Amino acid sequence: MGVQKKNLAPGVVWGDSYEQLIAACKEGGYALPAVNVIGTNSINAVLESAARNKADVIIQLSSGGAQFFGGPGIEDSLKARTLGAVSAAQHVHLMAKQYGVCVVLHTDHANKSLVPWVDAMIDQGVAHFKNKGRPLFSSHMLDLSEESLADNLAECRRVLERLAPLGMGLEIELGVTGGEEDGVGSEDLSAANHARLYTQPEDVLRAFDALRSVGHFSVAASFGNVHGVYAPGNVKLRPEILEASQALIQKHHGIAKAVNFVFHGGSGSDKKDIEDAISYGVFKMNIDTDTQFAFAHGIGDYVTKNPEAFRSQIHPETQKPLKSLYDPRKWLRAGEKSMGVRLDEAFKDLGATGRSLAH
Ligand SMILES: [Zn+2]
Repeated sequence: MGVQKKNLAPGVVWGDSYEQLIAACKEGGYALPAVNVIGTNSINAVLESAARNKADVIIQLSSGGAQFFGGPGIEDSLKARTLGAVSAAQHVHLMAKQYGVCVVLHTDHANKSLVPWVDAMIDQGVAHFKNKGRPLFSSHMLDLSEESLADNLAECRRVLERLAPLGMGLEIELGVTGGEEDGVGSEDLSAANHARLYTQPEDVLRAFDALRSVGHFSVAASFGNVHGVYAPGNVKLRPEILEASQALIQKHHGIAKAVNFVFHGGSGSDKKDIEDAISYGVFKMNIDTDTQFAFAHGIGDYVTKNPEAFRSQIHPETQKPLKSLYDPRKWLRAGEKSMGVRLDEAFKDLGATGRSLAH
């Protein structure tokens, strides 16, 4: 384990700084939580927790999260998704530096029907690059795991060819992550569907051969991971699939741990499975379900403790004004704080605490 070099500027990473951050994770044996956000409250909660933990972090938006960020009142959903993502990115660019940590800015699952969203965000990235000399996002994701492997890789190649000149990376998906994430994926966890939940190492090698010369990419491989939290014992995690994939690529190309792996559907996973996955080259672990619950739980607690403030403006018995209790800053802050506590745990579980590369 090498000594951590704190040599990156705080703020959003891209190009070389993004690749340095991933290399540091893999060398140092830790991973970064990739937290789904839907507004400035969740973004600020992530940045605040990252700063408190002296850890770098990944902030990401699903298409639904970006649409919500843009505003559910906008009827053109492609426009809301695209401009919502841009608005979120601008907030993160402006604020991340103030928190003194490095941030990877990313978008989550885009299946075939959402490819126009990714292309529209790249158009925005191109315009931003022309003005500022840097992209808006560090990376995007394409999840074409429902297509044939050949179609999946051909489309990933096309998109990566657009991203590479902007210093951006692409996350791809091989095999199917179980469960459902924001309307993408399947709730079908039946035995017949189980085989698809495990990526074949040969497929990872094919992806490596197809994309390596084009640009920087990472792979969300399926090793029994499932989105959301289900009753235990449904699907078995087999992180050794990642190890076998790295070994196959090393055999063909002579490079150890060549693939940057991403762990989707990690909510509720065993600490041992997480540690094993990181040791096989996972640098990013998505967290959404647990932080959603934490945010809701914090607000739920607040409402339970102050029920009268959510029913009337004046306390019915004491006649005291309740304005200071129903002020949205109070209960939204309760959600932020509770989300922050869950994130403290995530940084610790992933070994990321105290590892920020920001100088
Ligand atoms: Zn996912």
